[in-house]
Amino acid sequence: MLTIETLSVFPQVFAPYCDASILGRAQKAGIWELKCHDLRSWTHDRHHTVDDAPFGGGQGMLMKPAPFFEALADIGSSGPAPHVVFFTPAGTPFTQRVAERLAGMERIVFVCGRYEGMDERVYELADECLSLGDYVLTGGELAAMVVTDAVVRLLPGALGDSLSAVDESFSSAGLLEYAQYTRPADYEGRTVPEVLLSGDHAKVDAWRRRDAIRRTALLRPDLLQTADLTEQERAYAEELREAARQAQHEEES
Ligand code: SAM
Repeated sequence: MLTIETLSVFPQVFAPYCDASILGRAQKAGIWELKCHDLRSWTHDRHHTVDDAPFGGGQGMLMKPAPFFEALADIGSSGPAPHVVFFTPAGTPFTQRVAERLAGMERIVFVCGRYEGMDERVYELADECLSLGDYVLTGGELAAMVVTDAVVRLLPGALGDSLSAVDESFSSAGLLEYAQYTRPADYEGRTVPEVLLSGDHAKVDAWRRRDAIRRTALLRPDLLQTADLTEQERAYAEELREAARQAQHEEES
């Protein structure tokens, strides 16, 4: 079972999301568990202060180092050694590959900042620092929930259909997912590709693979560099890219 722990000044925000739907069911099934620690438990003043003004001046308040050092020493003093992840815009961008790696761990602690961020010295406690993307959130709690969600759905048994995480965007082939359709086959003249109604599984698989390459080439060509493609598929992707470049060129001129 994977244990995910959070360390933040808002420990109450995690349960409403993590106890619902797939994440909640997976907790009940004993696939993972969540423990939320209040950083203020490791303060020693009457007001449970976790922040202070930055040396050298500047706006806002910074999170003090001591509560993080004490909290992580306490948390790590029992049980298996946790993998400690700090959230910061300066971290490594979070991707599906990182989610897959974290899903193989036994115990993870997500450390969430607030205010103007953390005293730089706390990062020596990190096994890794992650960023959700090139934007600034008010705190690391949402980042921790995003990563938790992406990791837990990869755990065996978390999704009803164990194959649902295999074919998805960014999965092993490194492509976007193919286009999907449900009933009706004709919605006010908008029809579904014929092959999907054929019942021929080999043809459907071939169409899906080709569509995944098409969508990736047109929407996220950067992914093609690392995608697992045959020479023929790569040539098809390049053809589509060239056609898109031509179309854009014609539109601009
Ligand atoms: N002053 C910091 C800077 O410019 O990099 C931003 C601090 S932010 C307001 C407060 C906290 O939110 C951070 O310590 C971090 O834990 C979290 N956070 C904000 N944006 C994030 C991002 N893109 N990825 C991960 N965590 C983020």
